[in-house]
Amino acid sequence: MRVRNKPWASEFIAENRHIAVAQPSEYKGKWRELFGNNHPIHIEVGTGKGQFLSGMAKANPGINYIGIELFESVMVVAVQKVLESGAENLKLLNVDAADLTEIFEDGEVNRVYLNFSDPWPKKRHEKRRLTFKTYLSLYERLLEKGGEIHFKTDNQGLFEYSLRSFSEYGMLLTFVSLDLHQSGFEGNVMTEYEEKFSNKGQRIYRSEARFQN
Ligand code: SAM
Repeated sequence: MRVRNKPWASEFIAENRHIAVAQPSEYKGKWRELFGNNHPIHIEVGTGKGQFLSGMAKANPGINYIGIELFESVMVVAVQKVLESGAENLKLLNVDAADLTEIFEDGEVNRVYLNFSDPWPKKRHEKRRLTFKTYLSLYERLLEKGGEIHFKTDNQGLFEYSLRSFSEYGMLLTFVSLDLHQSGFEGNVMTEYEEKFSNKGQRIYRSEARFQN
């Protein structure tokens, strides 16, 4: 994703700390308290500009959503979207996925979404892919027993790699589509990248994989 410098971003985020949580590690083990309910917690890692989570939060008020985004200048757009949507069941964190276990207690999360993760096509960058085994072990720790990763991408290479990675990790594949938009799958909420790539005629791949711990 192209990241433009936005000098106003920090100030805007500081004004909206009810959405963009400051010091997220302070809420480790206490996220449900912050939401003020006992609902399941679903996170999206690499949430970008927030279209997917804003749509999901509106459609599923009984779920608490948390978006994880590396760049403040990208997350600020997601904060604007959450404000526009009026969703109260959605928080955003400006953190690196590598630090997820500092943010969530073991078993605190009920589902992980990965949408259009950066493909890092060069073999020497494999460790940066969000479906590399070290990331899978992070997700496994913070997910409840039998928790799932729901993954979408337009990138065939990343999709093939990720299915192999899930399988080598011992996960159970419970859903695979090689053409999501022609599959009859109901309740799909499009991400920004999904809209962009499908408008160009590209197929969207989708999988669900469950940890068997
Ligand atoms: N999920 C959105 C979508 O489908 O439209 C955005 C996809 S964009 C290609 C990938 C996003 O993941 C970028 O916003 C990037 O900053 C974020 N990202 C990449 N690596 C990350 C990491 N280690 N931790 C948190 N976010 C990350």
